[in-house]
Amino acid sequence: MSDTVYAEDAAVPAPETPADALPERADVVIVGGGLTGLSAAYHLALAGRNVAVIEANGIGEGASGRNGGQLHPGQRRDQIWLTKHLGETLADELWELGEEAVGLVHTLRAEFGADCDFRPGLIDAAHTPAAFDDIRSYADHLYERYGVTPEIMDRAELAAAIGTERYVGGAHDSTGGHLNPLALVTALAEAAEKAGAHLFPMTTAEGYTAGPGSVTVTVRRRGARAHEIAADAVLLAGNGYLSGLEPRIETRVLPLVNHIAATEPLDISPIPGGEAVADTRAVIRYFRVDAENRLIFGGGESYGPVAADVAAIVRPYIDEVYPQLKDVPIAAAWSGTLGITRTRCPYIRRLQPGVYAAAGFSGQGLGLATFAGKVIAEAIGGDTGRLDVFAHMPVPPFPGGTRFLGPLAVLAMTWFSIRDRLALPQIPRPGAADQSRD
Ligand SMILES: Cc1cc2nc3c(=O)[nH]c(=O)nc-3n(C[C@H](O)[C@H](O)[C@H](O)COP(=O)(O)OP(=O)(O)OC[C@H]3O[C@@H](n4cnc5c(N)ncnc54)[C@H](O)[C@@H]3O)c2cc1C
Repeated sequence: MSDTVYAEDAAVPAPETPADALPERADVVIVGGGLTGLSAAYHLALAGRNVAVIEANGIGEGASGRNGGQLHPGQRRDQIWLTKHLGETLADELWELGEEAVGLVHTLRAEFGADCDFRPGLIDAAHTPAAFDDIRSYADHLYERYGVTPEIMDRAELAAAIGTERYVGGAHDSTGGHLNPLALVTALAEAAEKAGAHLFPMTTAEGYTAGPGSVTVTVRRRGARAHEIAADAVLLAGNGYLSGLEPRIETRVLPLVNHIAATEPLDISPIPGGEAVADTRAVIRYFRVDAENRLIFGGGESYGPVAADVAAIVRPYIDEVYPQLKDVPIAAAWSGTLGITRTRCPYIRRLQPGVYAAAGFSGQGLGLATFAGKVIAEAIGGDTGRLDVFAHMPVPPFPGGTRFLGPLAVLAMTWFSIRDRLALPQIPRPGAADQSRD
């Protein structure tokens, strides 16, 4: 059961397949019932594949149904960084794929007749003059290379647009926007089932073996015995929640807990144009006003068990950005685990014949995770063209493997928040699209 406000407007229905009807065989087993897994299931089922989605908790209860709902165009890493590391051709191809990812969300919404409370418009808000310089030069790059024209806003224009004077300047992008992410998950889950996929919530994949031409996935429904499913292929789409299943993913994808609070409906929205806002801090603040006129505000990160009083973590961030809202009660607050990689590039790969991975969207998965599921489905169907492009993105393991991920996460977060406090330029790149939004 979702603890977010999103559940007031959307809820994933109970699966049609009985929980104890775990198959002996499927064409494809998908581990993880988030946007990645559901999108892969939908596209595979449409192509006639017999698919079993194995989800340890409720469908969409991972990051996918509890995120900030901001739909950002492009890749998580900006085009300047991608060009520097991969060359112009691949960077351009990745730009196109990033555009397709946003397009796919809109196409699916239209196909499913699911509005998902979408509202257009995104604003990047610079917290320092240096960050504003970066926003401007990146806007120039996007215009020169791709003909994209983010609208630059000076301090006064930005303050009028987002109802706070905390920021130096920003850029307005009309291609992205924001939506109720649980509504998107719900629509995708329903469509996947309608297309023939079988969803098994409350069922954990405990391990798998891969041999020539087949894989066997060991799963366990809560309270039941272990059960083996033989398949042609497995997609590991557990993202930041994957644990103990595949070291090649878990050494590369660091789980970080991020926090969100939603206020009671506001009388007047501080963001008259209805855009979503993300700032340029390393430990990013991101906010928007949803269709119910609630401020949905993300701020603060941690590692390890979810904090008991999430509202108390997020409230100071809200008060700092919107002191005028300090008396508005918080209606709900929740946390979610995202998966970040060292380079902030997603880890979308064929690990070996029949074994696929898609994870580590580093805080920009609403479009890209949905798209990755489609790309993996295409690859399983024999068309590896777009998977091959993603596979060029460098995703090295974190030093020390999984053992050091906890201490490393704490160290990284301390480092980022110190940089924020000292207002040091963000690392490792210029440009608002590439801050550490995770
Ligand atoms: C608080 C927060 C805010 C965010 N805000 C944004 C945003 O505004 N915009 C944006 O683009 N992105 C945002 N993101 C990131 C985005 O939500 C993710 O990138 C995206 O949802 C990833 O989807 P996924 O399906 O890969 O992973 P998830 O949705 O996390 O799904 C993985 C699923 O796998 C399951 N699982 C793991 N291991 C097993 C196992 N062994 N057996 C069975 N099931 C298993 C988990 O239970 C989980 O449900 C945010 C993330 C968080 C946490």
